[in-house]
Amino acid sequence: MFKIKLKELINDIHKKHILGRTIAGIYVIEFQKHGLPHAHILIFFAEDCKPHTVEDVNRMINAELPNLETNRLAHETVARCMMHGPCGVTFPNGPCMEEGKCKKQYPRKFQSETVMDVHGYPIYQRRDTGHTLLVHGIELDNRWVVPHNVYLSTKYDAHINVEVCNNIRAVKYLFKYVYKGHDRATVEISCQSDNAIKGNVVEADEIKKYLDCRYVSASEAAWRIFKFDMHEWFPAVERLQYHLPNQQMVLFDDDDDVQEVVARSAISRTMLTEWFKTNQKSEAARSLTFDQFPQQWVWNRKLKRWTMRKKGFAIGRTYYALLTSDERYYLRMLLNCVKGATSYEHLRTVDATTHDTFKDACIAMGLLADDNEWHQALEEASVWASG
Ligand SMILES: [Zn+2]
Repeated sequence: MFKIKLKELINDIHKKHILGRTIAGIYVIEFQKHGLPHAHILIFFAEDCKPHTVEDVNRMINAELPNLETNRLAHETVARCMMHGPCGVTFPNGPCMEEGKCKKQYPRKFQSETVMDVHGYPIYQRRDTGHTLLVHGIELDNRWVVPHNVYLSTKYDAHINVEVCNNIRAVKYLFKYVYKGHDRATVEISCQSDNAIKGNVVEADEIKKYLDCRYVSASEAAWRIFKFDMHEWFPAVERLQYHLPNQQMVLFDDDDDVQEVVARSAISRTMLTEWFKTNQKSEAARSLTFDQFPQQWVWNRKLKRWTMRKKGFAIGRTYYALLTSDERYYLRMLLNCVKGATSYEHLRTVDATTHDTFKDACIAMGLLADDNEWHQALEEASVWASG
């Protein structure tokens, strides 16, 4: 049932565009401990469909009890699936309770109208209407309603929490969340005699005693036996390899003759050198930077050649280079902003001057305006390295 509903929901979002025209999306499936599956879905809207204003948000998201008379079906679903809690003082042992407080900050405050807070998160309208309903013998009002889309709740009769995030940090957080991987536990298996104390010394083989375990419920096991996808995304992302002159990676077998390997013409053909070549030959190619290239050109892995894209769309992404990798770092910087380069020299050429290094070219282009910026980049790099 979950699989059927999810497929239809993704279809509603990305084919029928019922929330607005989407340009990218990703979802990841997770199984709760007791086995219930759920999906974390991130949707990216086309510029003209992004919910920027309070009206846009209100059209998409509701955080109040639907009207029982005019929208009975939605009311039923929200009453059954979209009410948080009850938690708080009367239910201190609720799963959301931590140190006497609800982790999800319920009950929320009454809110006469939707507003955007400083971080770009909307605070949804939850009016004090006096309208309540009984959940586990407790009367809950609009402060307990989990934000949802009325159409989706009504159609799927399921818990579908819909929220807006306008802030890049929120997007970053969500991506981390969807990719955080499986829940794991460190489990100790022992029998009493293992812990016998000999003299004053406790004999403990920590490696033997601890297992890094994954918990798989029956529904997750079934999902995997059927080989259903655990995640999906679109559009495709093409990871772009790049390298300093003659420093590309070369793959060969143990017993290959090194001279023969070096003589192979294919080893000098890489995504980057072929990008140069394509730019030399095709004027149409020259309007794009290296990282934009996969939007209109397709990399043929077998033939090691870029060909003009006939259908579809892909996003290019250059591998990250650490600042400490020096010239490689500056090469990447240039690749992300120079269009139609036909050679390494071309990349290093700014206003008809060919610079000796990629760094000098970056400086000449104003990409490294001053020392301050450089230090900032260094800081960022060290965050990357440590993170
Ligand atoms: Zn709670």
